[in-house]
Formats: sequence, C-alpha cells, structure tokens
Amino acid sequence: MPTTKIRNKTIKYKTTTRKGRKIVINILPDKTVLLKIPQDCQKNPKEILSDKADTILERIELLEKLEQLAKEYEPQLKTKLLLLGRFLDIEPIKAQKGGIVIQNDKITVFTHGSDGISLTLRNGLKRMLRRIILETMQDYSKKLGIKPKGLQIRIHKKSWGSCSSRGNLSINLKTIALPIEYIRYIVAHEFAHLIERRHTRRFWMLVKTLHPIEIKRDSLLTYEYLIYRNELWRRILTT
Ligand SMILES: [Zn+2]
Repeated sequence: MPTTKIRNKTIKYKTTTRKGRKIVINILPDKTVLLKIPQDCQKNPKEILSDKADTILERIELLEKLEQLAKEYEPQLKTKLLLLGRFLDIEPIKAQKGGIVIQNDKITVFTHGSDGISLTLRNGLKRMLRRIILETMQDYSKKLGIKPKGLQIRIHKKSWGSCSSRGNLSINLKTIALPIEYIRYIVAHEFAHLIERRHTRRFWMLVKTLHPIEIKRDSLLTYEYLIYRNELWRRILTT
C-alpha cells in the first residue's frame, strides 16, 4: 500500500476512481485513507492528501484515541456482544428451534441443526432491530404524516442507513449495537430523506422535529470502532 507523510506522520492510503465531480475521502478503522477520485481530476493523490491534512489528521488522532479505549474494553470485546449500547454475555444452547432471548445482561442463543451462533444471532438481531425501527417509524409517521414504502435491514459496508428515491429505507444491521436513542436518531435521518433528499437546512429541521436531541458524529464513530473491534460482531457481519 502506498504511504506518504503529512506533517511528519506516515499515512497509508488507497485510491479508487469514482463517477461524479467530488473527491470523497474515507478513513477506515485501521487508519488507511481511502481516496475516491473523479476520473477527470487533475490532482495527484499526494496533493489531495496535503490539501485535506487537517481533517485527515484529526480523524486519525480520534482513531488513535479509540485504539486506547478499545484496550480498556479488551476482555468485553473478545467474549461479549455489544447490543443496545451494552456488553452482554452469550450463552449458546442447542435446541429444537433457533432463536435468541435477552434477559438482563445475557443473550441466550438457541442454535438449531447446523446453524452456528453467528447465523442465529444475525437472524435474531435482524428481527429485533426491525421491531424497534417499525415502532420508531410509527411515531415519526404521526409527526410528519408520511410513511416509507418499505424497510430493509441489511449489512452495509459503510453507512448506517440509506433512503432510496422510491422511498424505501434500509438500515444497517449493526445499528442494533447502538444505544436506543442513537438508533432513533439514525432512523430520523433516513426518514427525513423521504421528504428532502439533500442535507439542506430544511432537512436538518425535519430531523430535529423527529429527534430533538442531536447525536454527535464522534460518539457514533466511537461505537462504530467498538463494533469493528468486537469479535462477535465481526463474525455476525461476515457469516
Ligand atoms: Zn443523509
């Protein structure tokens, strides 16, 4: 992987081309900078990286802090599952019928036949997240007088959710790892896109109407990092 130095810090980066005119910069949890560059862009990657030095270094510093935080959570990240903002113990039991039951600080995973723990968890968590989102959307529908066409729970690579131009909402399965207020905030964001496609002032007003408390980007990034480092989540998302 190519590297470059920004203010004496070695940065790993990858480049891909993209359609459209904007340069998109993503920073992966392992601190690799992903540059998506329009085909007709005249700048070379190193120029782009130095133009955006402040933003990139800020994000990398945050990731370094998060690495420290993950060290504190090491035992939980290895054996427990992050769910609704808490770490829960897992107890697998062979059963006639698959499913999950959550009680206090424990998830009992009833595995059936050759289904493993991660597949059973994936299906159980999908159902659980769907219930939470449908309930949230009922509340939002009353406020704005609209409804999405459909709801999908999927495993997205990057985003927490999306809203198609046809009015279908798609929410990332790993959202269920977040505290309930965060889930409602993410649903509010996608729900507001049913009315306003772009992130305009009007859009943020709609989000505020649905969910008055704003969830800061850094808190979301913290959870995203913990999910990335949580062994069980890694298995659920790659099963
Ligand atoms: Zn958006």
